[in-house]
Amino acid sequence: MSLDRGAREKLVRALAASMIEHAEELTSLDQAIGDGDHGLNMKRGFEAVLATLPGLADKALPEMLKAIGMTLVMKVGGASGPLVGTFFMELGKALPEQPARTDLVAAADKAIDAVKMRGRSEAGQKTLLDVLVPVQAVFAGGGDAKAIAAEAAQAADRTTPMLATRGRASFLGERSIGHMDPGSRSASLLISAAIAALEF
Ligand code: ADP
Ligand code: MG
Ligand code: MG
Repeated sequence: MSLDRGAREKLVRALAASMIEHAEELTSLDQAIGDGDHGLNMKRGFEAVLATLPGLADKALPEMLKAIGMTLVMKVGGASGPLVGTFFMELGKALPEQPARTDLVAAADKAIDAVKMRGRSEAGQKTLLDVLVPVQAVFAGGGDAKAIAAEAAQAADRTTPMLATRGRASFLGERSIGHMDPGSRSASLLISAAIAALEF
């Protein structure tokens, strides 16, 4: 997959637009089982990313992804900034400039491992890993864009009945059950936005 400058800018704008458009929804999910700032955190982070355009899109894809990650780590307070930022940074570090699908699969594996390390977390704990890990399984298994987007949405839904054992929601114990994990919802939205922008 080779992304020209226009495609890179389109990707960044699509990711940012999805976080800005869904900020209220993400915040209300976080009001139920966290501290009610997830929408604001993601919106602030991606507004900071947008502010680095047009120069951001001049960079080759790996450098651009690293820069997005660094901005998110720096500008977003809370757990999600370092975790989502780490994902983008490690994805960028692991990708060649003109990645084939197999390169993307390998890079996403490394990025997910880095998120696990940073969060000291695994899938099954009601966090964004409960979207990243199953979506990666579909992607690595050869799933097309439609299958990947569908899995992202379903995986976020599947966090609703889960018990949170990481992050702020874990402080609620059993009361975390019955609400969708905000970070899983934002991860699902980012994946769908990326797929729509890349038209693969
Ligand atoms: P904070 O909880 O610090 O206010 P946010 O509200 O922005 O940060 O993000 C919360 C989201 O971060 C959660 O919904 C969850 O998906 C994710 N998260 C929190 N802690 C972890 C962790 N240790 N590992 C993976 N993801 C986590
Ligand atoms: Mg929060
Ligand atoms: Mg917070």
